[in-house]
Amino acid sequence: MEQGKLVVFSAPSGSGKTTLVNHLLKQHLPLGFSISATSRAPRGEEVDGKAYYFLSEAEFRTKIKEEAFVEYEEVYHGAFYGTLKSELERLWNEGKHVLFDIDVKGGLNIKAQYPKNTLAIFVQPPSLEELENRLRSRGTETEEKIQQRLDKSATELTFSQDFDVILVNDDLTQAKSEAVRLVKQFLHS
Ligand code: 5GP
Repeated sequence: MEQGKLVVFSAPSGSGKTTLVNHLLKQHLPLGFSISATSRAPRGEEVDGKAYYFLSEAEFRTKIKEEAFVEYEEVYHGAFYGTLKSELERLWNEGKHVLFDIDVKGGLNIKAQYPKNTLAIFVQPPSLEELENRLRSRGTETEEKIQQRLDKSATELTFSQDFDVILVNDDLTQAKSEAVRLVKQFLHS
């Protein structure tokens, strides 16, 4: 595959996009997950090279200078996240289309760079209150980090209209089958 397609899932943190992305990866579709690089520390059981490539901030900055990223961002203060060009090449060389789980700005950035080949899906949580409940029940973040994420979520919700599709995630079973339907349709188009 020279250059495959790109399927972007973007949403405020806690809206369930990772669950949808993991569901898609189980469907035996020719899709590979784009492993982002990040300078944040691994959480819980996260293994380097699976959820993320974990880099130090200095390593991350070196890669920025080398223009190794398709897109990158300081998503939270002091925490950089980015998609490496080498990651897209890796997946396309394996004959796979690329599936992204990235934030809203990053998603729109990918779409701007590959406008013809990208399906950008915005996963809409039922409400900000529900988002807050989900973030708190995850129990992985400090209060300060939860507040940072909620502030960012409120801003991100205003960008939903810039995406190709808005997928409302109030019923997970329904959202999963809608995600599979949308992606299959796009890959066959
Ligand atoms: P977390 O720390 O919860 O794993 O991720 C924080 C946010 O960064 C999430 O919204 C996630 O989708 C986003 N993110 C992960 N990888 C990338 C990336 O490569 N680029 C951008 N722009 N955002 C990313």
